[in-house]
Amino acid sequence: MATFVPTAAVVGDVTFVGTVLGAVVAAVAVFTSLTLATFVTTLLSHSRLLRVRCVGSARSLPTILRLAIRGTRYEVSDNLLPMPRDDGLLKIGISQCLLGAEVRYDGGHKRNSFIVDLLGPYFSWVPVCPEVEAGMGVPREAVSLRSSEGGPRVVGSETGTDHTEALERFTVQKLEDLAGVPLRGYVLKSGSPSCGKAVPVEGAEPAPGLFAQALRKRFPSLPVVEETELADSAGRQNFAERVFAYDRQQNFFTSQRSIGQLVMSHAQVKLQLEAHRPGLHDEVAETFKQANGLSYEELGARYLAAMMKALEEPATPAGHFAVLKTIFEGVRKNVEPAVQKELARALQDYRQGNVPLAVPLTLLRHYVRVQENPFFNSQTYLEPEPKELLLRITV
Ligand code: SF4
Repeated sequence: MATFVPTAAVVGDVTFVGTVLGAVVAAVAVFTSLTLATFVTTLLSHSRLLRVRCVGSARSLPTILRLAIRGTRYEVSDNLLPMPRDDGLLKIGISQCLLGAEVRYDGGHKRNSFIVDLLGPYFSWVPVCPEVEAGMGVPREAVSLRSSEGGPRVVGSETGTDHTEALERFTVQKLEDLAGVPLRGYVLKSGSPSCGKAVPVEGAEPAPGLFAQALRKRFPSLPVVEETELADSAGRQNFAERVFAYDRQQNFFTSQRSIGQLVMSHAQVKLQLEAHRPGLHDEVAETFKQANGLSYEELGARYLAAMMKALEEPATPAGHFAVLKTIFEGVRKNVEPAVQKELARALQDYRQGNVPLAVPLTLLRHYVRVQENPFFNSQTYLEPEPKELLLRITV
């Protein structure tokens, strides 16, 4: 679990990578008396060189910096919902042309710089071009979807050559291979008769591309977006949140917990869901009311589907502010008036759009940890994985 250590009142357990730049940034921030929020932002902006691990005892800033420079490491607490592994990047499937590969019918590509440059450092791409991998070659005749009794078929736009069976054969095998990766999300190319989520069909309503449809069927809860959904910051952040949430849930399921633990783990996502919409947490909990007679696997699949569907509803700044305020109310009675003031200011700065979410989140998380509040301490909202926290700031 990583977080970033901002100030003299702040905590401790630290691992440090890239010490020189981090120490310089920290020293400059302290000695030029930047505000606490500014210091957090400054430190976070250099965080690709930092890996900082915090839990527990309060330390002074000089101590933290000394520990950081030495590379001291501390352990973190265990929760039912394990944090994503810190030993590698999560794997995301992607239509290969979006990465700049020249695999399109005309020998071109559809490189998307938001995806490659902004999201690229945080994920490990698993590129797939169904048409090339099904043996259609480059260059090739453009294809389109044509309606038929058995569902849309993929046919050559000029010659009418039917590529459906070749694509279906490839897709069955490829999805089996992808199940073993395992994927934590997928980015599809919009408008493609193979990859698009909703593509024009001659003689019928728009339908998913052949590969996209099979992908959704095989992995119904996997976060899947088209590249157009990642064109703005809110879309990228929502996708990132879903990817990390999906990873948490998958890690939970692979550790073979019981139904009781699954129900308990749902309490840990309360604040995360409430930031999307008040009442959303209770709506997902409805899944448990239908648990009678279901196996753990069946209930788990239903819960995962409900949870991932709920997260598709975007979190809003107002929702985040309401959740931050709840946490603030929980910690304020046990901190000094000066600290209360600083926290309140960070919240207002976030509300006014002056600082990113990570600033009040990091500050509140520190006091939650120090006060050992069991409810807040267990919340995934306050426990973003390091790359997830960075994504919230940079994408
Ligand atoms: S949209 Fe899909 S099938 Fe078409 S070139 Fe891109 S990856 Fe290949």
